[in-house]
Amino acid sequence: MKKKIVVPSITEMLQADLAQDLLLNYPRNLVVEHFRKAADISRHQQLTEEAEPKTVSELINEAKRTIEAAYQPTLVRVINATGTVLHTNLGRARLSSKLREELVDIACNYVNVEYTLETGQRGSRYDHLEQTLTKLTGAEAALVVNNNAAAVLLSLTTLAQGKEVIVSRGELVEIGGSFRIPEIMTLGGCLLKEVGTTNKTHRFDYERAIDEDETALLLKVHRSNFSIVGFSESVSLKELKEIGQEAGLPVMYDMGSGSLLSLQQHGLPEEETVQDALAAGADIVTFSGDKLLGGPQAGVIVGKKEYIERMKRHQLTRALRVDKLTIAALEGTLRQYFDEEQAIANIPTLQMLAVSDDVLKAKAETLCRLLSQHDSLAVRLEQGTSKVGGGSMPELELPTWLVSVSPKQMSVTDFVTELRHGKTPVIARTKFDLCLFDVRTITEDELSIVADEVAAVLS
Ligand SMILES: *Cc1c(COP(=O)(O)O)cnc(C)c1O
Repeated sequence: MKKKIVVPSITEMLQADLAQDLLLNYPRNLVVEHFRKAADISRHQQLTEEAEPKTVSELINEAKRTIEAAYQPTLVRVINATGTVLHTNLGRARLSSKLREELVDIACNYVNVEYTLETGQRGSRYDHLEQTLTKLTGAEAALVVNNNAAAVLLSLTTLAQGKEVIVSRGELVEIGGSFRIPEIMTLGGCLLKEVGTTNKTHRFDYERAIDEDETALLLKVHRSNFSIVGFSESVSLKELKEIGQEAGLPVMYDMGSGSLLSLQQHGLPEEETVQDALAAGADIVTFSGDKLLGGPQAGVIVGKKEYIERMKRHQLTRALRVDKLTIAALEGTLRQYFDEEQAIANIPTLQMLAVSDDVLKAKAETLCRLLSQHDSLAVRLEQGTSKVGGGSMPELELPTWLVSVSPKQMSVTDFVTELRHGKTPVIARTKFDLCLFDVRTITEDELSIVADEVAAVLS
């Protein structure tokens, strides 16, 4: 005998007490849509799987789940347990929590982004950062745009549209997310003139390539995410400046990850700073706001006033402009740099790179203790290495402490998958059948969140 199909009407569902809360919090047509969906699924299941009919409450609760899921932001906070400090997929640099109040205040109020308070006249949004940047770097002028890709594009277009730009073949990089020097060059309307070979570029290569009428710019690009070892040679920025000076051409340096201070004292390799690049004679230096600098996504251009003023007037600048939140976040980050110790203590990127072995070990021990409460996990403390990420210092292996976890009743793949699907997703590394938590990128406060998420997966 065929079973009777029972599905409540949408009206009945809308009138139920349980529905009233939903109707208060979500648009009525959305609630109706999800009620209908839940009812349809139930009808289908009764028809095809001989499932039992669902009560009104059951259907409403099901709809509530799907409404909530549909209304959740897709961009959510995650815990970076990979140890990669500038993880591009996880938003690169995290900002200092000291900026939290300030940023919320800027975001939720009117601000003087393009207004001069002294005179009551229209101001420029670029003034806010220029003074700080020139003071910190020693540059004559500065301009901030959406990201470093935009900074490079704007600089090339302004300085060399319709003209030749000379670049070494050893520096024609591709950065993750499809930023390629030759293509940016085309986009900027410049003609790329490659010189030298992949492994060797000499001074005479540049000198021979310079055309009095056609060449507009000498460009140096930081290799960022790769290196050339062995039989290799390149022309230093200082030499390039000499060549430029002789020919009357400006020199631009795309530094990628521009740092404002050296972390050598904290065990990191020597890395030239933006100040070094300017001192070596670069007329224009471009770098990212959210790589080693540790700020928000932005592209910083510093250098000679005559060039930067031309960029400010370029139409493209309007399309690449930064918003008030970026200005506030970058200004707040840059302010820390007036005192190196303060910068390292307060800028999370620097702090995570400079952190001592003792601090890392203590954090790993805390996490180890928290996770060891579970009989269904084999937990161990391990030494390992973390990466800087974001295409910065690609070969560097920073010694770190890991908590390695092996779930006894589920596969490690299922374990990390469930961790990603938790209330606060935890992104961990895996190695063979182990899940690894690198504490370098997990803050003290986040350790208990990781422990809670692991407990939720195991329960
Ligand atoms: C990272 C990088 C870029 C791109 O910077 P974004 O801020 O990601 O746009 C450009 N050039 C170099 C050399 C880089 O390392």
